[in-house]
Amino acid sequence: MSNSTKYIFVTGGVTSSLGKGIISASLAKLLQSRGFSVTIQKLDPYINVDPGTLNPYEHGECFVTDDGAETDLDLGHYERFLNVPTSQANNVTTGRIYQSVIDKERRGEYLGKTVQIIPHITDEIKERIQILGKKGTYEFVITEIGGTVGDIESLPYIEAVRQLKWELNEDAMFIHLTLVPFLSASGELKTKPTQHSVKTLLEYGVQPDVLVCRTEHHLNKELRNKIARFCNVDQDAVIESIDAKSIYEVPVLMKEEKLDEVVLRKLSMPSTVEPDLSNWSLFLEKWSNPKKTVRIGLVGKYVELKDSYKSIAESFIHAGAANQVKVELRWIHSEKLNEENVGVMLDGLSGLLVAPGFGSRGIEGKICAIKHAREYRIPFLGICLGMQCAVIEFARNVLNLKGAHTTEIDPDSPNPVIDLMDDQKSITDKGGTMRLGAYPCELNKDSVAYHAYGRSEISERHRHRYEFNNDYLSAFEEAGMSAAGINPLSGLVEIIEIKDHPWFVGVQFHPEYKSTVAMPHPIFNSFVKAVVNEEHLVKA
Ligand code: GLN
Repeated sequence: MSNSTKYIFVTGGVTSSLGKGIISASLAKLLQSRGFSVTIQKLDPYINVDPGTLNPYEHGECFVTDDGAETDLDLGHYERFLNVPTSQANNVTTGRIYQSVIDKERRGEYLGKTVQIIPHITDEIKERIQILGKKGTYEFVITEIGGTVGDIESLPYIEAVRQLKWELNEDAMFIHLTLVPFLSASGELKTKPTQHSVKTLLEYGVQPDVLVCRTEHHLNKELRNKIARFCNVDQDAVIESIDAKSIYEVPVLMKEEKLDEVVLRKLSMPSTVEPDLSNWSLFLEKWSNPKKTVRIGLVGKYVELKDSYKSIAESFIHAGAANQVKVELRWIHSEKLNEENVGVMLDGLSGLLVAPGFGSRGIEGKICAIKHAREYRIPFLGICLGMQCAVIEFARNVLNLKGAHTTEIDPDSPNPVIDLMDDQKSITDKGGTMRLGAYPCELNKDSVAYHAYGRSEISERHRHRYEFNNDYLSAFEEAGMSAAGINPLSGLVEIIEIKDHPWFVGVQFHPEYKSTVAMPHPIFNSFVKAVVNEEHLVKA
C-alpha cells in the first residue's frame, strides 16, 4: 500500500444531469465519515474562464468560495455535504486551461515547440488535478469531469485522466455514472445505453472500475450481472443509484450499496473503521419529521429555473431541519409583482426573501414586496441586491428621498443611496472583477444579527460592485434603519436592520454560500425561527 493521495475520476455517460456532483459528494461524505480527508474537484468543459459571466439561465447559480473564486454550483454541494471549504483549485474550466497555456506560450515557456492539445493542454489539466493532492492535506481527491463521455469538449479531459491513471496506477480509479432507463411499454429496465457508454469510454482507453447506475426501479441481481459481464467490472462494482426524495439521502443509499467499500478495495486502502453517519442521519430524521410547515416567498427574476437560487433553497432545508419545520418556498417572479397585486401574491406567506441579482429587470417588483413586508411586519431577509432594494424602499417611502435608487440602474439618481464602490470605478472588464470572496464584518451588539451569530466578529462571502452610500447613514439611522454590521477595514455597511419590526434584515453578503448540513447558517436559522414565531399573525 502506498501513502500517496488517491485520485478518483468520475465520468458521466448516456445523458447529462444524472447527478455526478451528488454521487461525488456522497462518496466523499462516506470516505470522510470513515476518518479520511477528502476534497472534490469539478472540471468544466466550457470555454468561459469561470461561470461568473454566465447568465443563471445557462448554468444555474454561480457559487463563490472564500478565496473569491466564481465557480460551478456543484462546489456548493461539495461544501454542504463535507462542511469543508473549497477554493479556486476545486473548479477548472477549459477557458482557464487554455488561458494559462496561451499565457505560457506568450512568455516563451514552451521554448519554440508547437503548442498542442496533447501534450500541452493535457499536461495543464493533469497539473490542475494534482495541485490539490500535492498540498498534502487530502488522502482522496475526487475529480468530477463535467459533460457526457463522447462530447467533443470533454475529450482532452478524458485523455488527461487516461494518462494519469497510467502514471498513478493503483493510486487512481474510474467511476462511471450511467442511466438504466425503464421502458414502460415493455416494463423492462434496459442496459444497452450503459453498454454503449462504456464502449465509448473504452475507445478512449478508459476502463471504468465502478459503474453507478441511475435508475427509477431497483436493479436485480441478474441485471447487475449482465452489466458487469458486458462492461468488464466486478458484480459488486455495479452500484444502483435509485431516485431519492432528497439529495441528502444519497450518502445513505450509497452506503447501503457499499460504494465506499468497493472504492477502498479498488484503491488498496484497507479501512477498519465503519462509516459514522450518525449526525447525518439525525439531520435526515429532523428533516423528514417536521412539526409544521411554514411558507416563505422567494422573490427573484430567475424563479423559472430553481437552480439559479440553489444555495438559498438548500439553506432553508438546513435551517428548516434545525428548527424542525418544513420550509415551503413560494417562488415569485419579481417582474409580475406590482402595487395592485402585491397583497394577493404574498397572501398566506409568513416570511419573505428577496434574492440577489443584477440589472433593472424586476427591481420595482422587489421594492414593492419589501414595502409590503415592512408595513405588514412580515419577517424579511434581503440578500445582496435584496438588501440594496430594502435600502431603496426605505429611502423612498420612509425618508421621502425623491428618486432614490442604486446607480447600477439609475446613474443620474438625485439620491444615490446605493452607489458603485470606489475601487470599482476604474474597472472595465466584467470577468472576476467584482468584490468577491470572504471579508470580515463587525456586528453591533444590539442587533438581530449579533444574537443570531452569538459573536461580533464574522466573515462572509461577497459578490457585488455596489454598496450602501454612507453619506445617507445618519438619516437612515435616525429614521430606524440601522447598520448592524460594518466592515472594520473599509467601513462598508454589510448588514441593515429595522429595529421596529419583528425581523427585518438585509445582508450585503451571501450567507447561503456558507450554510451546510453540519452548520446551518445563523442568519437563515434566525430568520426561520422568526417566521415560526410570527406565524400566528398570518391570516388563515
Ligand atoms: N447588482 C448588485 C451589485 O453588483 C448586487 C449583486 C448581487 O446581488 N450579488 O452590487
